[in-house]
Amino acid sequence: MGGIILKHFKPERAYFEAEALEYSLGRTLFKKLPDVGVPVEMIPSHNRVTGIPGKNPIDAYRNAKRTIVVGVKKSMELDICKPSANYQFSMSTGCIGSCHYCYLQTTMGKKPYIRVYVNTDEILDNINQHIEKRAPRLTFFEAASSSDPVGVEHLTGSLKKAINFFAKSKYGRLRVVTKFAHINSLLKLEHNDHTRFRFSLNSSYVIRNFEQMTATLDERIEAAEKIASAGYPLGFILAPIMHYEGWQDDYEDMFNKLKRRLDPSSIKDLTFELIQYRFTKAAKKVILERFPNTKLDMNEETRKYKWGKYGRGKWLYHNEQAAELDAFMRSQIQNKFPTARVQYFT
Ligand code: SF4
Repeated sequence: MGGIILKHFKPERAYFEAEALEYSLGRTLFKKLPDVGVPVEMIPSHNRVTGIPGKNPIDAYRNAKRTIVVGVKKSMELDICKPSANYQFSMSTGCIGSCHYCYLQTTMGKKPYIRVYVNTDEILDNINQHIEKRAPRLTFFEAASSSDPVGVEHLTGSLKKAINFFAKSKYGRLRVVTKFAHINSLLKLEHNDHTRFRFSLNSSYVIRNFEQMTATLDERIEAAEKIASAGYPLGFILAPIMHYEGWQDDYEDMFNKLKRRLDPSSIKDLTFELIQYRFTKAAKKVILERFPNTKLDMNEETRKYKWGKYGRGKWLYHNEQAAELDAFMRSQIQNKFPTARVQYFT
């Protein structure tokens, strides 16, 4: 763990719930993090973390993004996850990335620290029960709805464990999405085609301006190539697709880069998922506090409002712009990856 942890994300501080030390992953992290210079401290509960420094929203956010909290997952209730899977589950929450538009800006509180759960066997047992209930139908599980699981994989190894679990599962299937590229530890696993990896891609403009602390476009494409060579079913999530001056040229460049590096004939069942940019009122407020100079276009006057549950609606592009984005992406895909499937545009 030593070398890898230094090369990738290294937390500045780690907090441990006492119960986490009853699990082998908890004990390993407790022993090894101090070895690589990460101070550790015990806390009463992973939901009550009070020691993260930061008096203003920017510092609080930055410091939390460098804080890891090691705990035990108690609630085993799984949420449904449409449109990409039947259920979502998490072995970690929060993310080491710092994307301005990220949905985690509003779901993780003022200090969005990264929580990792050490009771992975219990989490997988629970998944198994859900699979058995629906058998012989296949049940799909999304692992990346409240974190980017590749981000902390060099610390936990939990994704590897999940891939191994799903490889042996007759009716369970795993879906992962990431903006990171350190996937080498996953390449030799016997995944049995039961895990679909999707890399989240975007134009260089979007990555450069809004996706801080994530892998570059080239790194993601290189990682995707390795994942395809390892025989994993592969997909791409283009999200959030943005409509800005020059977007067509930028997205075309992205598709050209992708085509140059990937041999479509070597990829099994290539899929694309297309998600247009959207924001909520609550997100806009938090984003402007944390990134006062962001170039994100959050002008409600140029958007349409879509009502949501409990009054939590969101701002989307007008139908004409959304249709333009949808048609452009589909034609690029059709041209460059004619055998690929577009699963949805939303
Ligand atoms: S990598 Fe994904 S989960 Fe992490 S901050 Fe960016 S959008 Fe959010």
